[in-house]
Amino acid sequence: MGFEFSFDNPLNRDQESYWFCYQNDRLMVKVNDNKAVVPLLFDLDEIGIKPVRTQHLGRLNGVHCYSAELPLDMPWPENVSFLNFIELHNLLEKEMYQVAINAQQIVAWEKDHQFCGRCGARTRRKEKERAMACTDCGSLFFPRITPAIMVAIIKDNKILLAKNKTFPQGFYSVLAGFAEPGEQLEECVRREVKEEVGLEIKNITYFGSQPWPFPNSLMIAFTADYARNEIEVDGLEIIEADWFSAENLPRCPTGTLSIAGRIIDWFRKTYPN
Ligand SMILES: [Zn+2]
Repeated sequence: MGFEFSFDNPLNRDQESYWFCYQNDRLMVKVNDNKAVVPLLFDLDEIGIKPVRTQHLGRLNGVHCYSAELPLDMPWPENVSFLNFIELHNLLEKEMYQVAINAQQIVAWEKDHQFCGRCGARTRRKEKERAMACTDCGSLFFPRITPAIMVAIIKDNKILLAKNKTFPQGFYSVLAGFAEPGEQLEECVRREVKEEVGLEIKNITYFGSQPWPFPNSLMIAFTADYARNEIEVDGLEIIEADWFSAENLPRCPTGTLSIAGRIIDWFRKTYPN
C-alpha cells in the first residue's frame, strides 16, 4: 500500500498514529538494535509533549502520519534520540524514511511561512490544500521544492568527477547545480557543465531523482556523453576535475544514501574497465 499523501485529516484519538517530531532538522526516534522507530501514539500528550504545531501528512500502510514541530527548549523525553537525515538513513526502514523527509520539509515550510512575504500580514492554513494563505492580501504559499541537476559525463569508459572547493580534502563527485527560473532541466545540465568545467556534452539522459532536504531540493540526475572541448575548471566552485576509470576512482560518494552514490555505482557496473 505504501504512503498516500494527504493533509487535512483531523487527529482521531481512537487510533494510534505515527508521529514525526522534529526539533530543527532532527527527528525524534527510539533506537534499538540498529533500528530507529518512529513513535506510534494516540497523541503526543501521552509522552508529555506540547508541540508548537502539527500537520497531517497522509497514511502509511493505512496508519495516519503526523508531523510535529517541537519547542527548541523542550526537555527530551526519556529513551529517545534526535537524529538527522544522514544518521537516520541506515536506521529507518525505507518507507518511514521517505515520510520522515516529507515531514521535515513540511515542518520547516510552515515554520518559515507564518507571515506573508508580500505584505507582511499573518498567514493561516488554507482549507483543502497544502498552502498558507495571507489573511490580508490573500497570497498563497505552497511548500517549496528547489530543482537541482546532477550529471555523470562519460568519455572513453571514464567518468568526469570534480572537486568542489567546499569538499573535504581528496573528495570528488559528479557535477551538480541549481536550475535557474525559466530554464529546462536539459538546458540547466548543459549550462552547469559548460560553466563549471568548460565541456560540451551530448546524449543527456534522465537517470533518476531524489528529494534532498537541505533544506528543500529535488535532485534530478542525468547521464551524458562527452562531445568536445578540454576540461577548464571555473576555479570558483570547481577547483579540480578529471576523468576516472572504474578501477581508479578517487574518494567519492558510494551507496544508496545519495543519488550521487547511486549514479557512481551505476558507472562502476556499466563501465567496469
Ligand atoms: Zn499578504
